[in-house]
Amino acid sequence: MTRLLDVQDLRVEFRTRDGIAEAVGGVSYGVDAGRTLAVLGESGSGKSVTAQAIMGILDSPPGRVTGGRVLFRGRDLLTMSARERRRIRGAAMAMIFQDALSALNPVLPVGAQLAEMYQVHRGMSGKDARRRAVELMDRVRIPAAGQRAGDYPHQFSGGMRQRIMIAMAMALEPDLIIADEPTTALDVTVQAQVMDLLAELRREYAMGLVLITHDLGVVADVADTIAVMYAGRIVETAPVRDLYRRPAHPYTRGLLDSVPRVDGPGARRNDRGEPAGRGESAGRGDRARRNRRGHRGGRLYAIKGAPPSPLALPSGCPFHPRCPRAQEICRGERPPLYEVTAAAASPASGGRTSACHFWKDELDGLDV
Ligand code: SF4
Ligand code: MG
Repeated sequence: MTRLLDVQDLRVEFRTRDGIAEAVGGVSYGVDAGRTLAVLGESGSGKSVTAQAIMGILDSPPGRVTGGRVLFRGRDLLTMSARERRRIRGAAMAMIFQDALSALNPVLPVGAQLAEMYQVHRGMSGKDARRRAVELMDRVRIPAAGQRAGDYPHQFSGGMRQRIMIAMAMALEPDLIIADEPTTALDVTVQAQVMDLLAELRREYAMGLVLITHDLGVVADVADTIAVMYAGRIVETAPVRDLYRRPAHPYTRGLLDSVPRVDGPGARRNDRGEPAGRGESAGRGDRARRNRRGHRGGRLYAIKGAPPSPLALPSGCPFHPRCPRAQEICRGERPPLYEVTAAAASPASGGRTSACHFWKDELDGLDV
């Protein structure tokens, strides 16, 4: 499998009035062609900043990449000339944002915005470009695409606008798409449709997809692997199924336990951890297992407290003030990213990791 993107020990700082904030403190993750990596975390965990640093669209200043490498097909984007980087960003990598309304040009009809991509990057004539634009709108299932090509972004619903954003990102058939909370602003039904479309296009074009989200419910059926971020660092990586069934970090477990199981991600997997068929009563296996272990009695759970400010990260493990499993060592020693060896690791994902001193207890579901 071709490794498309390989982020290695990426560090980003922000200069603020109150000092220097370490927004990203050494993040490593990768995605292969044709695969989806979900990057999961609460807002402020550094997942968007990481993506912006990868794309080279960080607000700088105040943001600054202070270390690490971002390899795209083996070449470091951070050491390329601005011009070369722009070329790659235009054609080989694309990004989808949460807010399509502000990402699209409000005073240009959407068909013209799409056509412009083909004219500028592919040197097409206006007529051919407009025809391709309509084809693309049709491909992302905008009803009556031919008529709607003349409409402005504000004339579309949120879900349709997000489809247009996807079309913009897909226009040049990039190798990699980074989607930052692509469905967060949409209601649940529309969310699912947009996610399905993205997953379908990812398959069809064998692209790599980095899907950034705070919503576990979004990733269960589309991601191959998950990287969980907390306080600017990765705290766990795992193939999606392993992570749902046996998290190896207390923060991940907290996230899983705070999702309603009835229609949450657990509900969409059966006892073997496979996606449940429609109508199959699901989530039982998970819940029963948790109940058997007596883990919080299977009740819905919210992680106590709030994520730390990057200006004042706690000592030791940054999660320790909120962690039900914290011990003395957690206050003093920052856990490295341990290799999680006990679980079946998927070779494609490069195995499982957890930044917890007690990952083994967590994995085994030992009571806190
Ligand atoms: Fe909790 Fe300690 Fe593990 Fe951090 S290292 S997640 S504080 S148990
Ligand atoms: Mg964000």
